[in-house]
Amino acid sequence: MGKSFAVIGDPINHSLSPNIHSAAFRELNLDSSYIGYRIPKGELESGIEGLKKIKINGFNVTIPHKIEMMKYLDKMDESCSVIGAVNTVVNNEGMLKGYNTDMDGFLEPIKKRDIQIKGKKILLLGAGGAARAIIAGMAKEKAEEVNIANRTPNNAMKLSEFASKIGLKTNTINLEELNQEIEKFDMIINSTSIGLKNETSPISFERANQETIVYDIVYSPMNTDFIKKAKDKKLEVIYGYEMLLGQATRAFEIWHGMEAPYNAMKKALLGGF
Ligand code: NAP
Repeated sequence: MGKSFAVIGDPINHSLSPNIHSAAFRELNLDSSYIGYRIPKGELESGIEGLKKIKINGFNVTIPHKIEMMKYLDKMDESCSVIGAVNTVVNNEGMLKGYNTDMDGFLEPIKKRDIQIKGKKILLLGAGGAARAIIAGMAKEKAEEVNIANRTPNNAMKLSEFASKIGLKTNTINLEELNQEIEKFDMIINSTSIGLKNETSPISFERANQETIVYDIVYSPMNTDFIKKAKDKKLEVIYGYEMLLGQATRAFEIWHGMEAPYNAMKKALLGGF
């Protein structure tokens, strides 16, 4: 019997995941299907019961369920327990095991480019769920220091405490002070949702160091104002779609136990823009 997969969240109709995974099934001739399934906030428990009834083999989890989903897991991979959020679930005859592939997804384009994080100074904008996965990745790769700037300073403080617990040095800085200190960073990452609605970048990169790498995890639009301003300054950029592809290929490998067809998945994703 064919296998079935889904992505759950709300809203879900703009999700690119069904396209990416379906392209992988076609490429490898797998008898599997993948759909977007809307579960509104507050209806997660009954939604999951429904997925178990139809014997779903696995599912991805997106906004707003990434943290609440932890409650409904029978087992947790370390990636999921460390980050405190889940984005990939395996259903083994009703036993749900959670993973978080955002950290590996985030690191994938960095590794592909052979960029070293070890000993580097990083600026991270944002302190939400995705920022936690990035902090876990920075700890794993032994960054020297991560400076966290966030609209709500208290959330930056909490993220900084999490970083200390996993052995990563951090500072919190004001969004307003950013442009004055920008030249000291080796990498600047946007993990806020700024850009999704075409908002202006909070950073101009006017004084950025020519070696600085700029990474925006927002993937739609592909060319956010943040990315455009970095490109204007001729800085190397990493696009949000690359992280999206990284987390999707990792989820594929967890579910199917074989290497993901990266190029076919990339082609499907880029066709969606
Ligand atoms: P989240 O937990 O809701 O966090 C949102 C973050 O953005 C918080 O730091 C929030 O600051 C900040 N923020 C939101 N609106 C802002 C505004 N108008 N001005 C300044 N700061 C603002 O969301 P998330 O799960 O971390 O996701 C964040 C973004 O990353 C989303 O756009 C999502 O699509 C993207 N993402 C991409 C990938 C990928 O694979 N490429 C993976 C995960 C997430 P406060 O603390 O002040 O609220």
